[in-house]
Amino acid sequence: MERKVRVRFAPSPTGPLHMGGVRTALYNYLFAKKHGGDMLLRIEDTDQTRYVPGAENYIIESLAWCGITFDEGVHVGGPHAPYRQSERKEMYKQYALQLIESGHAYYAFDTMEELDAMRENLKAANVASPQYNYITREGMKNSLTLPSDEVARRLAAGDAYVIRMKIPRKEEVRVVDLIRGNVLVQTSQMDDKVLFKSDGMPTYHLANVVDDYLMKITHVIRGEEWLPSAPLHVLLYRYLGWEEVMPQFAHLPLLLKPDGNGKLSKRDGDRLGFPVFPLQWQDPFTEEISSGYRENGYIPAAFINMLALLGWNPGTPQEIFSMSELIEAFSIERISKSGAKFDAAKTKWFNQQYLRQTPSEDLAKIFATEIQAKGFDYPITYIQAVCELVKEKAQFSNEFWSLASYFFEEPNAFDMDLVRKKWKDAVPAFMANLATDLNSTASFDALSIESLFKITAEKNGIGAGAVMQIFRIAISGQAAGPAIFELTSLIGKERIVKRLTAAIDQFNSIA
Ligand code: GLU
Repeated sequence: MERKVRVRFAPSPTGPLHMGGVRTALYNYLFAKKHGGDMLLRIEDTDQTRYVPGAENYIIESLAWCGITFDEGVHVGGPHAPYRQSERKEMYKQYALQLIESGHAYYAFDTMEELDAMRENLKAANVASPQYNYITREGMKNSLTLPSDEVARRLAAGDAYVIRMKIPRKEEVRVVDLIRGNVLVQTSQMDDKVLFKSDGMPTYHLANVVDDYLMKITHVIRGEEWLPSAPLHVLLYRYLGWEEVMPQFAHLPLLLKPDGNGKLSKRDGDRLGFPVFPLQWQDPFTEEISSGYRENGYIPAAFINMLALLGWNPGTPQEIFSMSELIEAFSIERISKSGAKFDAAKTKWFNQQYLRQTPSEDLAKIFATEIQAKGFDYPITYIQAVCELVKEKAQFSNEFWSLASYFFEEPNAFDMDLVRKKWKDAVPAFMANLATDLNSTASFDALSIESLFKITAEKNGIGAGAVMQIFRIAISGQAAGPAIFELTSLIGKERIVKRLTAAIDQFNSIA
């Protein structure tokens, strides 16, 4: 029977969500939507020692900012609630007991000291990576080596124990991976992983497999770092009798540093000046702040577009994709096996493309909040017209104020060195005439201003081009910016004339 596609994003709340994690969530989302399936958000918080307050909310807020939505999950509920593993605690033990019953798991009572001693002995005997496995378990305190009455006594007395998987001695486990093909692993290389801990919590492996089964997950799409766990998961499905409904696996390639040498880390971002997290994050313990794409002025759709192409390609030269186009084009077959190098310059390029495409109406809404926060009161139509003029120049949405402040407040400080460079003897007279001419003109549209400007320049025996830049400095305080007569028209007659007059006064000190 064809099963409805169901995928999950299953982060552990151990800190802010790295952009590699966002990409994992994105690929799951695209795959689910492409196949008319469901996307779940499950919080895997069984390792209480690694719990970081605020991380879960951060994950939820980040994914919402990215436009990745969920059909079920910790924040939206659903038929398989709860979606937070710590709240599902009671569900897992029965499966560990079932495995003991069928001979695929066992109780282990070893203390920390005994485990350390075992590792030390193995190291002394030159064993490279000491493991609790089919050989070493023989010398340890577990329900395979202790007499059954002692096991019963210890359990009844409430002695601390863990439940370990009994990995068979000599078998080959095959993991079929949709990206990597067949991955074969010998069980002699695997260790008897803990499934259930002494604190009454399952480990990641048990909880993850049990939940994927109970939540009817059909495809597990996750980072490559989980590939080594996949053989154990395959055995768990087999021993729990769930092989028929085992999900298909797809392990995603790593996100690499810009030079391709290793996994992209927060330190690379700090060193090379780009965020690795979607949103700004403040560490609750150290209070250290890490920058985020949102706060750095990125448009979420641009960030998502960039991430989608880090490890997947559409097979065509198309680079700009909306979310619905991504859903349409996405396929697991086109995910690459090798790691994808992060490219900060390309990321900026995407953002610039998106800024240009974003209707000024939408940009104005974002910018209006900033304008209001600064205490200004301007009609949204004016803010929109400003956005229309400056958006070509912007790479980030948080650059609007530095590019456009003079539309809202009077320029007050001029770069006098620059003024001096552009200075001509005819400037004072020209500017005074221009102020008068502009003041008396009836039409203040860009074309009328342009022709008036030219006429006034001519009257003063000077080429319009020669005074254009000093005019710009006078009315905007900046040496560059959008089309000069358009911005003059937008700022409006009264303010422009005032600005010219004020600038003439300051510039006179040069003359
Ligand atoms: N909790 C794991 C993580 O933090 C999930 C791995 C998986 O998707 O199976 O990435």
